[in-house]
Amino acid sequence: MILVLRSKTMQTAKLIVITGPSGVGKGTLVRSLLQHHPELVLSTSVTTRSPRLGEVEGKNYYFVDRNKFQQMIENSELLEWAEFAGNLYGTPRLPVIENIKQGKSVVLEIELQGARQIQHNFPDALRIFILPPSMTELEKRLWGRAQDSHQAIAKRLQRATEEVKAAGEFDVQVVNDNLEVAWQNLETILLNSLPSSV
Ligand code: 5GP
Repeated sequence: MILVLRSKTMQTAKLIVITGPSGVGKGTLVRSLLQHHPELVLSTSVTTRSPRLGEVEGKNYYFVDRNKFQQMIENSELLEWAEFAGNLYGTPRLPVIENIKQGKSVVLEIELQGARQIQHNFPDALRIFILPPSMTELEKRLWGRAQDSHQAIAKRLQRATEEVKAAGEFDVQVVNDNLEVAWQNLETILLNSLPSSV
């Protein structure tokens, strides 16, 4: 996910990248962030993954097939993209650029490879890594939410181990042990980075 916040004094929009292993609670934290700060724009990604129960086209994701995704890559329509646990995920370029031009900060909730591409292309982006309290707890959460197959969870856990090792590459790290505490820490980080916008 990418988040862009607007600084009222500087009149500049910020690109905010939120990354962390699958199951760490990024989605819940980001939902909370947007509820408290409706001035932020959440980027909707494109994916080749099948929709989960309750997921809505255009809200959770734009669900596309591999051919369409490939076309988007070839037409440079994606700001960044990556393969994750057997599926492709990417950020549509145009809405992010348009929102930033209009001075709106944008939030991206994305995995590690995509976050690295953003670091390369947008060095001013604020990059936040959400950590689990432990890998055991992360495993428990992934099995507990029962959204994916056994095989998919195994792939996500393998990927989580690699992602957590990269947490130090990010500007800041937030441990999501207690949701309320993690949320407060996240908000403090944003307040410090964008004093006049939140
Ligand atoms: P899920 O299948 O659980 O919705 O997402 C799997 C992973 O893909 C999560 O870590 C999520 O943050 C990441 N992801 C979602 N959208 C994008 C995107 O546009 N680009 C990248 N690189 N990762 C994404």
